[in-house]
Amino acid sequence: MTGITIALSKGRIFEETLPLLAAAGIVPADDPETSRKLILGTSRPDVRLVIVRASDTPTYVQYGAADLGIAGKDVLLEHGGTGLYQPLDLKIARCRMAVAVPDGFDYAAAVRRGARLRVATKYIQTAREHFAAKGVHVDLIKLYGSMELAPLVGLADAIVDLVSSGNTLKANNLVAVEDIMPISSRLIVNQAALKMKRELLQPVIDAFAGAVRD
Ligand code: ATP
Ligand code: MG
Repeated sequence: MTGITIALSKGRIFEETLPLLAAAGIVPADDPETSRKLILGTSRPDVRLVIVRASDTPTYVQYGAADLGIAGKDVLLEHGGTGLYQPLDLKIARCRMAVAVPDGFDYAAAVRRGARLRVATKYIQTAREHFAAKGVHVDLIKLYGSMELAPLVGLADAIVDLVSSGNTLKANNLVAVEDIMPISSRLIVNQAALKMKRELLQPVIDAFAGAVRD
């Protein structure tokens, strides 16, 4: 592929990436919310978009199936970042990763007495590092979504999840008790592609950099 392939996930990342793409003269030819196409053309004949699951974005870029991609820090930490260059924090899809427990559960007291906690999460690597650094003993349970349910049905004492407004936690009688880290999405670049196609990729990277807003 002599042009540029960019991997994006539907939803908030796609929506929040539109202004960055526009800064590089790239306008998608279809809306992934209504189109069933997984490869979208753009206003630039040399640029196409591939629509992937958010957690798969680093994999497409790592193997060079896409030259560029946009992925949350949450996803990148779990992936590990092998083969990826991460030149830019795009400051989109911002939220935080946090520990949440049922309202009324005294997390701080449980930690103080050295209790062993069952923690359900999609983010096993990040959770493991967080609790190890704090010296908290945990049994981690891998889930793929709807983490909020786990403490409500006795699967776990706590969850590690992304929080933005807190409305989903509140609706399920959970409270965030500890921040782990702020999360935003990053531009990721296939390292080999950057070497082979720098004259094509660098202007897009520069246009994105110029369009980042706090
Ligand atoms: P899927 O919905 O396919 O299981 P996902 O939940 O990871 O995957 P999205 O909900 O589109 O996919 O989230 C994509 C990225 O957006 C996440 O990896 C994260 O970086 C960020 N994100 C997730 N939830 C929020 C949120 N509530 N507010 C802001 N950004 C978020
Ligand atoms: Mg989601």
